[in-house]
Amino acid sequence: MAEQNYYEVLGVERGASQDEIKKAYRRLAMKYHPDRNPGDKAAEAKFKEVGEAYAVLSDEQKRAAYDRFGKAGVDPNAAGGFGGGQGGFGGFGGMNGGADFQSAFGDIFSDLFGGGRGRGAGPQGPQPTRGNDMSFTVEVSFEDAAHGRKMDIRVPAWEKCETCKGSGCRPGTSKKTCPTCRGAGVVRMSNGLFQVQQTCPHCHGTGEVISDPCPDCQGTGWKRTTTVLQINIPAGINDGQRIRVSGRGEPGVNGGPAGDLFVEVHVQPSKFFEREGDDLHMELPISFATAALGGEVTVPTLDGESRITLPEGTQSGKTFRLRGKGIRNLRSGTPGDLYIHVLTETPVNLSSKQKDLLRQFDASLKEGGEKHSPKTEGIFEQMKNFFKK
Ligand SMILES: [Zn+2]
Ligand SMILES: [Zn+2]
Repeated sequence: MAEQNYYEVLGVERGASQDEIKKAYRRLAMKYHPDRNPGDKAAEAKFKEVGEAYAVLSDEQKRAAYDRFGKAGVDPNAAGGFGGGQGGFGGFGGMNGGADFQSAFGDIFSDLFGGGRGRGAGPQGPQPTRGNDMSFTVEVSFEDAAHGRKMDIRVPAWEKCETCKGSGCRPGTSKKTCPTCRGAGVVRMSNGLFQVQQTCPHCHGTGEVISDPCPDCQGTGWKRTTTVLQINIPAGINDGQRIRVSGRGEPGVNGGPAGDLFVEVHVQPSKFFEREGDDLHMELPISFATAALGGEVTVPTLDGESRITLPEGTQSGKTFRLRGKGIRNLRSGTPGDLYIHVLTETPVNLSSKQKDLLRQFDASLKEGGEKHSPKTEGIFEQMKNFFKK
């Protein structure tokens, strides 16, 4: 047989959009569908061809390989091609549906029938299904988030039910053939045009049902317990970030892998610091005498107290930066900086003696004029001009 070009099979241009490819495939799949052409071998062959072409052209990666290398680039007999036999739509007869083929069909069928992509239960039995993910919240102090720590958390866990050895049946009883699908695991649905196989909703594709569930696990085969899990809170983690512990979620079904556990970290606010990215900011109140005279002051940092020297005449609002005293970056490990915003505190609750001293002091400032007040300098002059207008 001459090699058929996939584009010709679907009757589309080489540059066709995914939408055009899909439309063409839909039209042809319905035309050649075996249910509409019973016993017609030519139609069946055409149907297979169309499906194969669509499986390649609807996948941008495969399509690119096909455009460059032809069928050799997407060799159906190569590993991962169409040769597999785990198709969920095994009921069409003669169709050798591999995983890719099946997913191509899944898309179309969900379009046609509005149903979900059929999960491949079939005569081969149920498919393993991955367990659900779980989430969990932990609260850590600001300092612990900054430094990182190990932490023991108590989380739900599952172990096989001992009473029924995981079967889910009351001891002494066993599973019965599912009455809905008579053990096939699948049911056939028809929309009048053609039929589709679906996983049996009653037994979820296992073909068996538990008529007398184990009283200890309610037929699930699992018992929920709790376990202590040590997790590592990495240095630099921020509020709301999640840590994934793989395989510690809910158990899988039919031998599928367990889901993952996501630990969401809530970081308590700090007494001193505001975090901005990897930098920290804090307000440091100082007396106006210290602001005027300068001197050493103590500041809190993540690594304990530190001392900084303020120069004479430090103005309120001045910012000092301590390099490398911020938060370590979660990825690079490079620390940010700590910014100290100085705030001059106005003294309150003064005695009359203190007030007198201040008045004397203020009078002495006035003798010196504006040279003591760098921010006031010129402002009265400007105000006079402003009000003249
Ligand atoms: Zn049990
Ligand atoms: Zn069933």
